[in-house]
Amino acid sequence: MMEMSGFTEEQLSVRDAVQKICAQFPNEYWQQHDQSETDPKELHAALAADGWLGIALPEQFGGAGLGISEATMMLQTISQSGAGMAGAQSIHANVYATQPLARFGNKDQLESTIPNIINGKWRVCFGVTEPNTGLDTLRLKTTATRQGDKYIISGQKIWITCAQVASKMILLARTTPLEEVKKPSEGLSMFCIDIDRSNPALELKKIKKMGGRAVDANEVFFDHYEVPANTLIGEEGQGFKIILHGMNAERCLLAGEALGLGYAAVEKASRYARERVVFGRPIGKNQAIAHPLADAYMNLEAAKLATYHAARLYDQSKTDKSITPHAVGVACNSAKYMAAEAAFKACERAVMTHGGMGYAMEYDVERYLRECLVPRIAPVSREMILNFVSEKVLELPRSY
Ligand SMILES: Cc1cc2nc3c(=O)[nH]c(=O)nc-3n(C[C@H](O)[C@H](O)[C@H](O)COP(=O)(O)OP(=O)(O)OC[C@H]3O[C@@H](n4cnc5c(N)ncnc54)[C@H](O)[C@@H]3O)c2cc1C
Repeated sequence: MMEMSGFTEEQLSVRDAVQKICAQFPNEYWQQHDQSETDPKELHAALAADGWLGIALPEQFGGAGLGISEATMMLQTISQSGAGMAGAQSIHANVYATQPLARFGNKDQLESTIPNIINGKWRVCFGVTEPNTGLDTLRLKTTATRQGDKYIISGQKIWITCAQVASKMILLARTTPLEEVKKPSEGLSMFCIDIDRSNPALELKKIKKMGGRAVDANEVFFDHYEVPANTLIGEEGQGFKIILHGMNAERCLLAGEALGLGYAAVEKASRYARERVVFGRPIGKNQAIAHPLADAYMNLEAAKLATYHAARLYDQSKTDKSITPHAVGVACNSAKYMAAEAAFKACERAVMTHGGMGYAMEYDVERYLRECLVPRIAPVSREMILNFVSEKVLELPRSY
């Protein structure tokens, strides 16, 4: 259904190959895993077996060395296959949270971690959000205190996806107290730590959630959890700058995931509208059914252009210094916003097109609607993107 003109050879071959893998996991697989809240480890294993988890990681460590443009296509294809956000989220952090690690990690860190992430031995989660600071990331309260050759971590994280199955967490914690730094963006550090679920200093509590139930989301409690000092990535105190690198990549991937869900929803709704006959005619003959679907489709197409434009800028900015971090940030945030809104519209229309059957698990669109709220909330909410564009592009006064 998506118009495929204009994509590169690499993007098209990623799409073909990933579609073939996802075809082994039909909608029934995702319905069952959503209902039973069972991790889709078979999808993770199948993608790892064919090397897809290293799509955007360096070739010298076993990655494919492709960019976020191709990784976004991969995540969109997974989501669009019917796997939705759950399927995408089962591998999502492996792809984007590893970007800052690949860029700022030292040789030892890269050699010891990246190959095991690519071959599927270790899964990864991303630990940023905290219950008491939310979107005010710079004021996060989890501390990592240096003691000899260790850091001692204390604090709490929330909503950490895949923490029940991950071996590694990319963690953002404060290493210098807020009162002692000039700007709140200083004094934060990034770590790649082991998740030792047998250690009593670490506790995980699974959160019951609305959608994407096949993947776990967790409260994480650190109570003097010790990690070796060599888990620090890059320089101490530079964590926020380092993590920003992964955040723009994540916005592109999330935009791709939202698009996948939106196109899957419109496709299902259009099929149903062609087949379902009421009052002696297909319901799609009614413009009240057809026009909102056409509108949803065009919104997805526009968001698609914004998404792959942002991913291209992100990739090209590595070598083309005329592409500023500001331009990349605006493009990635705008793409995530537009794709999330387009997906929401598409999924809502898909449920309404199905009438009562839109509410039945069997038709999948209720699952898509539950899941499509995630890209509107995470990793940054729609309101915060509107704040960002108001302030940084329109030069309006900061509102908070
Ligand atoms: C399914 C799911 C998976 C997630 N996975 C992860 C993960 O793996 N790792 C991780 O670190 N985090 C994860 N998150 C967390 C996610 O990134 C946060 O939920 C998100 O950043 C919003 O933060 P919050 O929930 O604390 O909202 P809050 O900060 O409490 O905000 C609540 C509401 O107030 C609005 N608001 C707040 N401040 C302003 C303002 N100044 N102006 C306008 N509006 C404002 C927000 O837009 C939002 O609508 C996940 C979340 C979900 C739902």
